[in-house]
Amino acid sequence: MPRRIETLIEESRWELPRDCFSETSRLPWSEQGRVLLGGPLSQPGGPLGSSPTPEDTDEGPSIYEGLPEGAIAETWPGDEGSLDQAIRTHGFEALAIYISFHSPLPDRTWGVFFLEAPMREFVRKIIRDVRVSVALANSLAHNIVLAHELVHFRFDVYALGEELTLSRPLYLLYQQNVYDRVLYTDDCWEEALANAGALQRARFVDNRVARAASAQMQWSDFVYRACKASPPGYSNVDVPKEEMQSHLGGQLRFMDPKATVPPASATWVASSQGFAPDDSCPLFVVQNNGVVRSKTRLTIPTRNGPWIVHKYDKDPWPSTPHAHHCDSGEKLDLGTGDVWDRNQQRARRLPRRELERIRDYVEAHWPDVIMPGLSSRGV
Ligand SMILES: [Zn+2]
Repeated sequence: MPRRIETLIEESRWELPRDCFSETSRLPWSEQGRVLLGGPLSQPGGPLGSSPTPEDTDEGPSIYEGLPEGAIAETWPGDEGSLDQAIRTHGFEALAIYISFHSPLPDRTWGVFFLEAPMREFVRKIIRDVRVSVALANSLAHNIVLAHELVHFRFDVYALGEELTLSRPLYLLYQQNVYDRVLYTDDCWEEALANAGALQRARFVDNRVARAASAQMQWSDFVYRACKASPPGYSNVDVPKEEMQSHLGGQLRFMDPKATVPPASATWVASSQGFAPDDSCPLFVVQNNGVVRSKTRLTIPTRNGPWIVHKYDKDPWPSTPHAHHCDSGEKLDLGTGDVWDRNQQRARRLPRRELERIRDYVEAHWPDVIMPGLSSRGV
C-alpha cells in the first residue's frame, strides 16, 4: 500500500491549524462489531469474478473495545426485506462506512469499513436479481459499494488540499454545518456524487457481467434501481457530474448548501488525485453478529417531501416524538396529525391515512420508541 497519503496526512497535521482534525470516539457500528484488516476485497481495478479469500479471521484490533458504540445499532434480521429497507433509509451507507482521516478512530485508523452481515445479504440479492455466480456477485457487490465509498475518500483528499491551500479548516466544518444538515435531502451532493461514481463503475463493467452466461438483468440497471430506491440526495444520480461537483465544491468552500464553484475548479472536486490513488485508501471489514448501523435520525419519504424524526429530541412539543419537515421547517404532531409552522401556528392537519403511514414507518424502524396515542379527533 502506498504510504504517500499517510505521509501527507502526518505532514498536514503539523502544518494545519489543530481544529482541522478531530477524532471519531463513537463507533458507527454495534459493539459486537470486530474490525478485520482489509485484504479479502478486490479494488475497483481488480479482477472481476475472483473469489475473495477470507484471511485473518482473528479478532480485530482490541483498541475499539473500550469505545462506546454509536447508541444507534438496530437488530439486523438478515433478510432481503430488511436490506431493502436499510438501503431506502441509508443508501449505500447501510453496507459500508467511510471514516475520514480528518476524524479517525483513536489509533488514527481511517478508511472504508464494510459491514459484513448486510454485505452478505446484498450479495444474495445480486445472485437472485442479476442471476450471476456467487463469486461474481461477491465481486460486484464489493466493487460497487467501494466505488461509492471511494468518492468519500477522494472528497476527503480534495478537502485536505483546499485546507493546505487556504490554511484553515474546511472538512470538519463542512461535515457539521452542511453534510449533517443536508443528508437525506436533495442538497446532499456528496452522496449524489458517490452514487454517480458507483453507477459509472457499474456501466464500466456491464459488458463483462453480460458475458457471464446467466445474467438476466443489466448490472447497471440493478445499481441504478438501488440508487433510485435510496433517500433524497443519494437518488439524485441523473444530474450531470460536473454540476454535482460544482455544488459540492461550493458547499465545502462557503459552508452554504446552495453555493457553487465555477466549472474550472469543479472538475477537481472529489476526483482522483495522483498522490492519493484509490488503492491508498485502507479497507476493513466489520465482522458482526447481524447488526447494521442506523441513525438516531429517521427520514420518512412522503409525496410532499421528507419528514425527519429525531430519536432523542429534547423538545417535547408538539408531541414526543414529533417530525420536522425537511424543507418548510414545519413540525408534525405524531398523535393528532396537526402541522405547525415556524411561528408555532397550526397550519393544517395531515389526512389520517398519511399520518398512520408515517407512524407505521417510525414504528417499523424503531420498535423501541413509544409513539404518542393516536388522537381520535377529526378523522
Ligand atoms: Zn455515502
